Amino acid sequence: MKVTEYFEKANGQTLISFEVLPPLKGGSMKAIFDTLDPLMEFKPPFIDVTYHREEFIYKMRKSGYYEKTAIRKRPGTVGICAAIMHRYGVDAVPHLLCGGFTKTDTENALVDLNFLNINNVLALRGDARKFDGKFIPEEDGHAYALDLVKQIEDMNNGKYLHSDVENGTPTEFCIGVAGYPEKHFESPNMDFDLMHTKAKVDAGADYIVTQMFFDNRKFFDYVERCRAVGIDVPIVPGLKPITKRYQLSSLPRIFHTDLPEDLVNAVQNAKDKEGRRQAGIEWCIQQSKELKEAGVPCLHYYTMGDSDTIRSIVEKVY
Ligand code: FAD
Repeated sequence: MKVTEYFEKANGQTLISFEVLPPLKGGSMKAIFDTLDPLMEFKPPFIDVTYHREEFIYKMRKSGYYEKTAIRKRPGTVGICAAIMHRYGVDAVPHLLCGGFTKTDTENALVDLNFLNINNVLALRGDARKFDGKFIPEEDGHAYALDLVKQIEDMNNGKYLHSDVENGTPTEFCIGVAGYPEKHFESPNMDFDLMHTKAKVDAGADYIVTQMFFDNRKFFDYVERCRAVGIDVPIVPGLKPITKRYQLSSLPRIFHTDLPEDLVNAVQNAKDKEGRRQAGIEWCIQQSKELKEAGVPCLHYYTMGDSDTIRSIVEKVY
């Protein structure tokens, strides 16, 4: 079923969903099942699986020279989606990137997903690779998530890339896209950011999932600003609890999010590791309760493989 159909069927009730990331190459599906098994009692209708493109690493050779090597550290998104659907009987939402894909690669990936009966995707641009400095699309790939949305929407209308495909079977992908309550870090301002988010919705995106945030006011303001510019699709808040002290600096650096002073103080003033984890959990519970009270369509938790923490939160909210 499509993600948006779940929202409609819920009739104003707030749903719950989880996001998992593929294990490091060489790992097994057990890691995913170990994360999800304890969370399935909360009945998520769908589970997102992130996508990780290849990265470059530099390996020193015997000669002393460094060799640039491409590796994919976390492959397996599509296989994991199929395994999740098979084991739990819920829908899986693979993340699909512009980065690392030509348009033909994208079309082939969508054909595979369609044949697997996976008809939800989260369409994203992806970040720049570590050594690139800025996002560089593949030659004949997409530069922005907008163009990826357009390609998926074309396939939903039976339009494939190659003109020799006549009467192509229309796919039925429900398309999610990313939104940023604190704006995307490359956008010069929020208006610019909203204009490009609206373009994704106008091109066919059915719903938005937000980047993590720790201050609900930012989410509520964001939704208000989206509505004011005519973005009328469901907006799902993305939530991640802080559990460790180093995240006070790593999360703002990686995800470009502000941490409220009260949260920072609570984590910093806790007397030990467990106290810091509890402070982060308590914050996320309060955030979740307020968002649920406000009637958001779904609470989307970034699990990062830590099901114990996510369980402690969700059981207090549902
Ligand atoms: P876009 O919508 O393309 O926007 C990127 C930037 O370009 C924005 O600043 C936008 O304003 C600007 N822009 C858009 N169009 C134009 C234009 N025509 N001209 C000029 N500027 C323009 N990354 C992964 O690698 N794997 C994942 O699985 C993953 N999952 C994610 C899930 C969620 C819910 C979120 C919020 C993010 C996720 N990301 C993931 C990170 C995401 O790939 C990055 O945030 C990336 O930098 C931007 O992706 P986007 O789809 O928002 O890009």
